[in-house]
Amino acid sequence: MSLSLVQSRALLGLEAASVTVEVHLANGLPSFTLVGLAETEVKEARERVRSAIQNAGLEFPNNKRITVNLAPADLPKDSGRFDLPIALGILAASDQIQAARLAGHEFAGELSLSGELRPVRGALAMALALHTRGIATRLVLPTESAQEAALVPGGEVYGAKHLLDVVRRFMAEDAAQQQAEAPAADGWARVHAAAAAAMPLYADLADVKGHAGARRALEIAAAGGHSLLMVGEPGSGKSMLAQRFAGLLPPMSVDEALESAAVASLGGSFSTARWMTRPTSAPHHTSSAVALVGGGSPPRPGEISQAHHGVLFLDEFPEFARSALEALREPLETGTITIARAARRAEFPARFQLIAAMNPCPCGYLGSTLKGCRCTPDQILRYQGKLSGPLLDRIDLHIEVPAVSAQQLLGAPAGESTGSIRTRVVAAREFAVQRQGSPNQALQAGAIDKHAALDDAARKFMVNAAAKLGWSARSTHRALKVARTVADLAGAESVRAEHVAEAVQYRRALRH
Ligand SMILES: [Zn+2]
Repeated sequence: MSLSLVQSRALLGLEAASVTVEVHLANGLPSFTLVGLAETEVKEARERVRSAIQNAGLEFPNNKRITVNLAPADLPKDSGRFDLPIALGILAASDQIQAARLAGHEFAGELSLSGELRPVRGALAMALALHTRGIATRLVLPTESAQEAALVPGGEVYGAKHLLDVVRRFMAEDAAQQQAEAPAADGWARVHAAAAAAMPLYADLADVKGHAGARRALEIAAAGGHSLLMVGEPGSGKSMLAQRFAGLLPPMSVDEALESAAVASLGGSFSTARWMTRPTSAPHHTSSAVALVGGGSPPRPGEISQAHHGVLFLDEFPEFARSALEALREPLETGTITIARAARRAEFPARFQLIAAMNPCPCGYLGSTLKGCRCTPDQILRYQGKLSGPLLDRIDLHIEVPAVSAQQLLGAPAGESTGSIRTRVVAAREFAVQRQGSPNQALQAGAIDKHAALDDAARKFMVNAAAKLGWSARSTHRALKVARTVADLAGAESVRAEHVAEAVQYRRALRH
């Protein structure tokens, strides 16, 4: 046969679109033409495939006119993921393997010049896309990628270390028999999900002494799904607290873990050791908008998507580029980010909890008991004003994190452990979800009025506070959501005045 077809997948966002690799061999002037790949990729792919076939002791059809077409043409086809399907297509078209046996399989893998298989980006995303769309196929991948893909339940995944491992599976029976007698180690194996991973490990909040107020705010944020802004002088412990937040959240469901791992796998940063662990992304304030929200060609997920089902920690919050911060508004509302570049759009999930931290003023010591502030009122206003009202509006809790003196630290007992706080968080979340089907943060204005169930004293307290502090309807709703979470943590059916009083405190850290 001189024509062969091999199936593979391209990555576009979290979708894995089908790609068919067609290989045609013809008589004529010898050549090797690759259609459907970016120009820069073509030369390298041709070199890798040719060397790998020859160095594996197989025959490269040097005397033929070889045409390889990757269809459809308009999909992004980055990296060397098509090396393996291209090589198999050439071997099938030249009758070295049996083309008919390739059916029902999909392949991806980069080849080294000697024919070793190298891992590809997004293997888990590929397997997840097949799973969610109900496509039953056998995936053949480099071993490391196969281990990732096998985390998706119900798939049939094979891993191979070398081109020859794959070739042996698709040879005619008698030829395979001869090959099998060769002493070469067989790197082919069906891969199953690694045994249930150990409990995910998070840094423990017991390590943080003092900070009763901040710990309480973290607990409320975790229980209600609220975003949190911490304002405090340098060295007051904001980062330590933020780095321990993910551990307070309810354990991940398998679906959440799969989505989160699929995004990490797209970014090439997934490790099976992190399976079922909520991620914390902590980009530096000099990060570009693209690094933060995603972009590039082909579009790659940004830090906010790497934080999907986990935590996005932005330290030195006002120092981020304005464009980067404003780009956070869409995902904070919708939980997804759409990246449009030229004619191509990719959507990435980005349902994260935002934990932001900042100094109260440019010098950092406004309101400090340790050091005096050197800033003018004007400088302070300008600094805090870098955060737009609409952005701050999306952060439900604003708290001050004062420095803890050395003396206080020495006398303080160890803090309550992450595990023990998480138990309360889980109970409060369940309470809310049973009542309204979502965490409190996700409640729309009408729904919060219905579910807050304020008693008379609480209603009066809220009306007074809103009038005194000059709150908009939107600010009032945010405080109501937080009050609902405070009540949930107390196991209370209706929101009482004490819950409202606590919620009102969480809106006073900034001057505006
Ligand atoms: Zn200052």
